[in-house]
Amino acid sequence: MSSSAIIFPVTKSSVPNKSISTKSSAPIASAQGFSALGLSEQIVRAVAARGYTKPTPIQSQAIPVVLSGQDLLAGAQTGTGKTAGFTLPILHLLSNKVVKRSATGKIPIRALILTPTRELAAQVEESVQTYGRHLPLTSMVIYGGVNINPQINRLRGGVEILVATPGRLLDHVQQGRLDLSQVEILVLDEADRMLDMGFIRDIKRILALLPKQRQNLLFSATFSNEIKSFASTLLNQPVMVEVAAQNATADLVTQRVFPVDRDRKRELLTHLIKTHNWYQVLVFTRTKHGADRLVKQLHQDDIVAMAIHGNKSQAARTRALGKFKDGSLQVLVATDIAARGLDISELPHVVNYELPNVPEDYVHRIGRTGRAGSSGEAISLVCVDERKFLSDIEKLIKRSLPQEIIAGFDPDPRAKAEPIQVGRQSKHQPRHGQRDNNPIAKPSSQVPSKSSNQPQKKLVGRSTAKSPTQPPKPERSDSHHNRNR
Ligand code: AMP
Repeated sequence: MSSSAIIFPVTKSSVPNKSISTKSSAPIASAQGFSALGLSEQIVRAVAARGYTKPTPIQSQAIPVVLSGQDLLAGAQTGTGKTAGFTLPILHLLSNKVVKRSATGKIPIRALILTPTRELAAQVEESVQTYGRHLPLTSMVIYGGVNINPQINRLRGGVEILVATPGRLLDHVQQGRLDLSQVEILVLDEADRMLDMGFIRDIKRILALLPKQRQNLLFSATFSNEIKSFASTLLNQPVMVEVAAQNATADLVTQRVFPVDRDRKRELLTHLIKTHNWYQVLVFTRTKHGADRLVKQLHQDDIVAMAIHGNKSQAARTRALGKFKDGSLQVLVATDIAARGLDISELPHVVNYELPNVPEDYVHRIGRTGRAGSSGEAISLVCVDERKFLSDIEKLIKRSLPQEIIAGFDPDPRAKAEPIQVGRQSKHQPRHGQRDNNPIAKPSSQVPSKSSNQPQKKLVGRSTAKSPTQPPKPERSDSHHNRNR
């Protein structure tokens, strides 16, 4: 691992791809753009079968860099096709190189892809399988919340491409079941999210297990100073590619704000879903408790809904997501754990039932729609308490969002803001000791007093009104508690 400084920015013309060899025979006509990037015929065939006709901008830029063996720092909005941007060249590189088997004849782990969430890990590995279907490479995904034994058995056989969430990966390492010493390529997908979720210590522990000589690819939707400084310790003279302005919101998403009174949000949501006959609606709440409550209320309104959040078992999360993806579930209510990585093709509607208190989360949430060329709509139901969140979001995305009052739902102009209990704090707070000892991961009765300098749940808002008597549980706590492992 090198600690050389990052070179910002490197233009595409400086990206060498002379070393790319392609064994392609007749390229698949419909996906010629991919063979022009230097990818092998087997990969182009798989991509063509997936229906891709040309590489997306991040793919056009990232694939030659990865094929050339250089480190990469890539900034890509959600839904830009970044998974194929790293998966395709990795498959190409690994399949063109002879594997060095261990003394026991076992195939070593040659590529390690780390993701912040289980869902994203599963999706990435699915992509590896899809794009690598004509290649003899092996892959698997490991994440927590499920029985570890099948993973142990599968690892015994040897796996070349491993997709993992950091916590469960370390569990395997601790049990002496993983040898990462032969890793040739490391990918950190959604690196900003990983840091934001407090994975930095886990990642550092994992990095220490990797060989110094390797290729590193870091993908991030946003480039905070923290990401830049982390990248400068990880990457060796990386090529930087970026396909959208920093913190930009997905181009194809129509965004609107519907001002509404706090206690009429549910009624308005039902009204919107029913009058417009919305199907496949992803609704975001700030808390797990809020998500569960909303699901119950939607059921009362005869709308089929399920919740996905960090308190749900992995089986329940997978089931809800599966039903939502296959179209048999009308509404999926999610906390921010689902804001990243979910790839549901052509998701038409995202509703911010509650605005996120971390403005970057807004960008990630609405990135669930308008993906890879299809258009979508993102609606935010905003009550008087959330004005500050709205202005923070508008500052971040550098535009003001159009507001529209829905007839019959005019907000009370005399309404006063009340404080909002938030779970997820803004980024870059100290998260030291989180893995085992995170104070916000404890039940509220154990949360240290405000005098503690540890991260706390925070009340924000302008009024001096009392705290809610039944504080909602913060999403962050249990997502840390469960640790995506
Ligand atoms: P990702 O940003 O990697 O999550 O990809 C978002 C979506 O874009 C996924 O549904 C991919 O299957 C799709 N996709 C990726 N590459 C292409 C491409 N070149 N053409 C069309 N769709 C693509």
